[in-house]
Amino acid sequence: MLKGYRCDLHIHTCLSPCADLDMYPSAIVEKSITENIDIIGICDHNSSENAEYVIKAAEGRPLIVFPGMEITTSEEAHVVALFEKIAELYGLQEIIYKSLSGMNREEIFGCQPIVNALDEVEGFNERLLIGSSGLSLYETVEAIHRFNGAAIAAHIDRESFSVLGQLGFIPSDCRFDALEVSRMSTGEARGQYPELSSYSFVTSSDAHFITDIGTKTSTICMKKPTVSELKMAFQCLEGRRIED
Ligand SMILES: [Zn+2]
Ligand SMILES: [Zn+2]
Repeated sequence: MLKGYRCDLHIHTCLSPCADLDMYPSAIVEKSITENIDIIGICDHNSSENAEYVIKAAEGRPLIVFPGMEITTSEEAHVVALFEKIAELYGLQEIIYKSLSGMNREEIFGCQPIVNALDEVEGFNERLLIGSSGLSLYETVEAIHRFNGAAIAAHIDRESFSVLGQLGFIPSDCRFDALEVSRMSTGEARGQYPELSSYSFVTSSDAHFITDIGTKTSTICMKKPTVSELKMAFQCLEGRRIED
């Protein structure tokens, strides 16, 4: 039987240098449950080291966590990747880390703490997570798919760091599973971007602060709360769909 899941598939943790330090795993889980969200996606910039702790913090709680990442491509466009299994995400992580250069400067960009499910700081990521990876859009989407992930072009309605903002179009050879709009409903987006009507649209909060979580969500009809079901919903297969 199909069920409508309330999803906020683009949430940062304190590991992202631009996110608030209050975005630690247990706080994200508590706020998501308070907001009646069924599924969240954890997507830090070019890193995934807090994702497994958010999954741990949600164990036994009424919340599903998709581990993910928000990759900055060499074109400076953001792509959200979501995975079923943490091991798949770590496969992508290895590729992104190899292509990421530079060290973080906390005083300029902010600190990048790795915080576990018990709110303890495990360490600090020293990489320049705010920078661009060396992977092109095409290579990024291909790498996400190699590890069975879903590739979503992030906040295409924003001028900065979006595929549309950087290129002016969605390249047809980049096989995005869906497009994300940050401020519009998915229905409005379909009206605003008629040339992109063959894509599914999803809307998420892109939360950097606790109060952002749940401010934008999508209700997605699926049989089970899994990434493979999510990909079927993006293709509108067998009744699965994005409701709005
Ligand atoms: Zn972004
Ligand atoms: Zn983001």
